[in-house]
Amino acid sequence: MARYEITTAKSAGFCFGVDRAVKLVYQALSEGRRVATLGPIVHNDAVVGDLQARGARIISDVSELTPGETLIIRAHGVPKAVYDRLKEMQNPVIDATCPFVARIHRIAAEQTAAGRDVLIAGDPKHPEVQGIVGHCNENCTVFRDAKELKCLIDRKCGKGLAIVAQTTYNKLLWGDCIDPLPKNDPDLLIFDTICNATAARQSDADALSRQSDLMIVAGGKHSSNTVKLYDVCSRNCRTWHIEDAAELRQHADEILGAVKAVLEEKGSGHVLRIGITAGASTPAYIIKEVQTNMSEIIDTTAAPENEEINFADALDQSFRKIRKGERLKGVVVSISGNNEVMVDVGAKQTGYITLSELTSDTSKKPSDLVKVGDELELVVIQVNDAEGMVQLSKRRVDEMIGFENILKAQEAGEVLEGTVLSVVKGGLVADCDGVHVFIPASQSGLGRGADLNVLLKQKVRFVIIDVNEQRRRAVGSIRQVQKAERDAAQAKFWETAKVGDVFTGEVKSLTSYGAFVDLGGIDGMVHVSELSWSRIHQPSDVVAVGDTLEVYIKALNPETGRISLGHRRPEDNPWVKFTNEYQVGDVVEATVVSVTAFGAFARIITGVDGLIHISELSTERVANVKDVVNVGDVVTVKITGIDTEKKRISLSMRAVAGDDEAPAEEADEVVYSDEAPAAEAEAPAADDAEA
Ligand code: SF4
Repeated sequence: MARYEITTAKSAGFCFGVDRAVKLVYQALSEGRRVATLGPIVHNDAVVGDLQARGARIISDVSELTPGETLIIRAHGVPKAVYDRLKEMQNPVIDATCPFVARIHRIAAEQTAAGRDVLIAGDPKHPEVQGIVGHCNENCTVFRDAKELKCLIDRKCGKGLAIVAQTTYNKLLWGDCIDPLPKNDPDLLIFDTICNATAARQSDADALSRQSDLMIVAGGKHSSNTVKLYDVCSRNCRTWHIEDAAELRQHADEILGAVKAVLEEKGSGHVLRIGITAGASTPAYIIKEVQTNMSEIIDTTAAPENEEINFADALDQSFRKIRKGERLKGVVVSISGNNEVMVDVGAKQTGYITLSELTSDTSKKPSDLVKVGDELELVVIQVNDAEGMVQLSKRRVDEMIGFENILKAQEAGEVLEGTVLSVVKGGLVADCDGVHVFIPASQSGLGRGADLNVLLKQKVRFVIIDVNEQRRRAVGSIRQVQKAERDAAQAKFWETAKVGDVFTGEVKSLTSYGAFVDLGGIDGMVHVSELSWSRIHQPSDVVAVGDTLEVYIKALNPETGRISLGHRRPEDNPWVKFTNEYQVGDVVEATVVSVTAFGAFARIITGVDGLIHISELSTERVANVKDVVNVGDVVTVKITGIDTEKKRISLSMRAVAGDDEAPAEEADEVVYSDEAPAAEAEAPAADDAEA
């Protein structure tokens, strides 16, 4: 197998401007906005595909915007006319124009206003250049190289000129253009507007490709800065421009052929140097996949045949050369006590991992975490050739992998799970695969001033809202996850809910007029009159916060978001029960529930009371009702009248005593009402019988 080193250029991948633009799209989507981008936000099919799958639309003209849709202007920027049009349309706009591009727009506008023609070095078809042209009020010309620039200057005819460059313009070509020009000519102003990110990426790529046998440039085929990187690298060594790891695999045979040619030329002991760089639109996870796949491709090479290698060389070559900072795999060969794990890393040296480099959880012993024979992914912390030892760390690899996962999750807006380790000033710290994520109190999902300790040791779900890659810090938000879930539940509810649907939900809050019930991310209200067939004064008479209630939808209004719920079921209507089971002439036991001057009300079944008129209390004349009955007394009464229409019941104790003759005074009627007040009324109507 060939020996090799893969080096990734420090500046490979997303630049500041693209990173910012992509994050702004993910953020807008996570806020539940309808989002459109004016052209692809980045020249990368994988990223664009993912954003489209999450709902972002790509439009080619602002006229395609729908009302209320948020337009995101990408890092390339747009002509001034587009801003003017957007002002008229009143759609929400997120301007992700890279600040370096916005600076060129300012220069273009100022120089045009000062009466100078603007000469722009770049590709006239590139959207960034078209955007710059749109800030020059038509007094501009785009040129591609020094020759075209010279013609333009020769034709200037005494007019003032200002020269700017597309941010991704080739630094070397820019030198060719500018170096021959006078430096202090007030009629010829030169603004070097090439972005440092681009220049740094190009010079890193140039330096790396000079030291490499092979180079891989990862990035979109339409990304001009990636194409320029390919041009720079291919001048120095064999270079492939691929979009992703899958395309790299398609070139595996060519790459292996090139590896073989290098080894044949330089000898099998030669350590192959493979460089990787990537354009400004290439996300970190694609670079990582390219690295991994490149290793796997090279691992399949065999040393050239018939090479003469002596035994000592062969033995030496059979061992890996270990370097500080290298990531490698090792197999656990022994566990010594509570402190150390010995590892075979296929090198001359013995590898060891101290407990603190094995895990950040100091309550664990090595034997809790690994066993002999386990293969571990490790990073080399220290190589001590004199002692023949290599100090390794698993914890740091776990953190690196965890942090890579955090970055991927941030890009993808993925929800992560972690355990809250501690409450600190201003928020919480949660552990997510070995990475400590800070969750500000305002993003904890708890109310303002709530005690954050309730989340201690709890599993929480959050999205990453900010990452500082250099300091390896990540900031998470539980609140955004809760909001997204609530929004999704609400959208689903409004899509499917209809009058009559039954739900079982928890009572979230009570007011004087009703109870609010959670229907699964959205609350509906049960009016106090709908809570019980009996007369109640307030919701808390029959339900409490936290109770589970079966409810059904009485009415829905998607525009106001109001959902009226019912709880009482018609089959439980006590009047219906009463009329099904009782008739005039029946003798029943009833409980006196109230006493008035004209008689006593007695409850026959729950929710149904009848009146025993004072004249019906006894065969004797009664002067005072309380002389015969009092609240709580159980009395035997005869049902002497049922008025179905008015829902009134007349009762008589006198008739039970055998005196069925009507008294001189006509008995008042008794009232029962099963009809609750209208659902939106302030409070339930009074039960007539008790009024
Ligand atoms: Fe901004 Fe430079 Fe990136 Fe262009 S390359 S988006 S100018 S940071």
